[in-house]
Amino acid sequence: MLKDVFIGLSQNRLLTAAAKKYGLKLGAQTVVAGTNIEETIKSIRSLNAQGISATVDNLGEFVFEKEAALEAKENIMDMIEAIHKNKVDAHISLKPTQLGLDIDYDFCLENLKDIVALAHNYHMHINIDMEDYGHVQPSYDLLNALSKDYDNIGTVIQAYFFRAMDDLQEHKDFRLRIVKGAYKEPADVAYQTREEIDENFIKLIEYHLLNGKFTSIATHDHHIINHVEAFIKEHDISYDKFEFQMLYGFRKELQRELANKGYNFCTYVPFGDDWYAYFMRRLAERPQNLNLVFKQVFTK
Ligand code: FAD
Repeated sequence: MLKDVFIGLSQNRLLTAAAKKYGLKLGAQTVVAGTNIEETIKSIRSLNAQGISATVDNLGEFVFEKEAALEAKENIMDMIEAIHKNKVDAHISLKPTQLGLDIDYDFCLENLKDIVALAHNYHMHINIDMEDYGHVQPSYDLLNALSKDYDNIGTVIQAYFFRAMDDLQEHKDFRLRIVKGAYKEPADVAYQTREEIDENFIKLIEYHLLNGKFTSIATHDHHIINHVEAFIKEHDISYDKFEFQMLYGFRKELQRELANKGYNFCTYVPFGDDWYAYFMRRLAERPQNLNLVFKQVFTK
């Protein structure tokens, strides 16, 4: 119920524009690393000092004007240059709809090519984040097209989709992030219960750990993490074949604990002024995240 409210709010264009105009508010600063490159590099340095790498996301999605998509491309390319120049341990996550997928497929592909080519020069990985169901197939098409010329790309498998195992098997030679899935999807394409999603999530993780290139296990769910740790031990899976990932600002103790155990750990670091939809999705996933907001507001 609350989930639907927050997902609805995340898609409200007027509120998105207002949030952009008035800066980081509502406690969003706890889960957004900075509004500009300088602040974000500082946050990444502090993660790196704890043995944690970063995947950096220039916030923004569902862009419908070419000018805004080109601006997003420039921001991402500036961040790639800054990561390289500052020698921090980080790579990029991006969303195809921010780069014009809803405007024109070829326009989006050209934008992505520029980004991937620049990152390729610096041996930097680019992750194509997965968005809602309508964008899933076009995002795989982009990945497949880019993979003809570049090997520094990967994407995300969302466990709530019935199609997830087929997609995983088809793309097992890519570096893949596996997640439960963040959007509200209908029952004809996606599992609806927590049990079904978790069961599929585990199946996908295990399959990719045994057969795939590199697995990013992206979850805050300690039940899943405990299961994965036991599986890795049982199958003697090398630590350089996988990493754990969590979002910036969430379960910081557990992030450090996993990094201290010697696992590769990568934090998803969102930055920029387009924070509103991202923040509302986090509240939809876990309304208890409102606690973060209250803490932020009342401990000032
Ligand atoms: P949940 O199902 O939210 O939680 C399960 C259990 O874990 C909870 O009941 C609780 O016991 C525990 N728990 C969870 N959070 C906390 C907390 N903060 N404190 C204490 N206990 C907690 N989704 C996409 O659709 N596309 C993407 O490209 C994408 N990329 C992502 C990248 C990263 C790095 C991460 C971490 C997530 C990404 N997601 C993405 C979001 C993902 O799909 C889930 O919506 C999100 O991670 C919530 O699911 P969960 O697995 O973390 O656990």
